[in-house]
Amino acid sequence: MPGFELIGKEEQEAVNQVFDDGGILFAHGFDGMRKNYHVREFEVLMAKHFDCSHALAVSSGTAAIKIALKALGVKSGDEVITQAFNFIATVEAILDAGAKPVIANVNETLNMDASDCESLITDKTKVLLPVHMLSVPVDMNKIMILAKKYNIKVLEDSCESVGAKYSGKYIGTIGHAGAFSFDFGKIITTGEGGMVVTNNPAVDKYTREYHDHGHENNPAFPRGKDTKSIFGFNYRMTEMQAAVGKVQLSRLNHIITENKLRYQMFEKNIPHSVKLRKIPDGSDPIYDTLIFFTESDNEKERYVRILTDEGFGTKNLPDAL
Ligand SMILES: *Cc1c(COP(=O)(O)O)cnc(C)c1O
Repeated sequence: MPGFELIGKEEQEAVNQVFDDGGILFAHGFDGMRKNYHVREFEVLMAKHFDCSHALAVSSGTAAIKIALKALGVKSGDEVITQAFNFIATVEAILDAGAKPVIANVNETLNMDASDCESLITDKTKVLLPVHMLSVPVDMNKIMILAKKYNIKVLEDSCESVGAKYSGKYIGTIGHAGAFSFDFGKIITTGEGGMVVTNNPAVDKYTREYHDHGHENNPAFPRGKDTKSIFGFNYRMTEMQAAVGKVQLSRLNHIITENKLRYQMFEKNIPHSVKLRKIPDGSDPIYDTLIFFTESDNEKERYVRILTDEGFGTKNLPDAL
């Protein structure tokens, strides 16, 4: 996940520019004093790049998941189905939205298994929350069929696979909403940060208001007299983060191309006896991680040792729960 490895002069200049332009670090207001609206520009660039109608910048990927769950109508007592191989943030966001996390198993893609997911659906299930883990898309066709059949919403946790595609579409834009993360370990970074993407105007309206204390940013009123119809919370992104984000976004395609070259080099040279993680048909991962299975713990430790000694970032993934 190399966004942070490429951070340099351009990102620094983007931050300096924010200060040279007057040092407005807040996304809204101060209209007479500012030259740019970096958060707003970052959102427009993101929506364009990912070919979706709405993108909302927020303070983290975890916040993006929680806000999107609320926008999809998740309330206390509801169930949200996510997957066994995961990062804790997904479950935290479900709990913070007041719902109960239900854990579906994963298959040989190491992402959500649709049949196991189906067996867990009850009349309390409000949202399916597949997670595109470590660069590889979930087999989304199967998940979307379930969503239709049972009339359930789908939120894609795309935090670890920003830029991956499934059936020619960017992941995050296939379900009813998607969550991206720009924390320091992700493919592009703003230090901390996240984004909610959606093609649904109602989801965008709710998330936009909720993440900003309910503000509607009504153009008829100054911010201090702004209209509100819901209460919310503060999950805003700063202008500094967005200034960095715009530069990082311009590097994304280059990063993916470079990742793919290295991935293919590994793939070609790996012994035939080693079983690689399955990649769903018709999907384009972002190739920042190559996952393979070993026969025994001994073999696993040997691979970890050899690769680590050779300077490759290597880890033994935790067993799926
Ligand atoms: C990183 C990550 C998140 C949360 O993102 P933060 O920006 O760190 O809050 C959520 N889900 C997955 C799968 C992640 O890897």
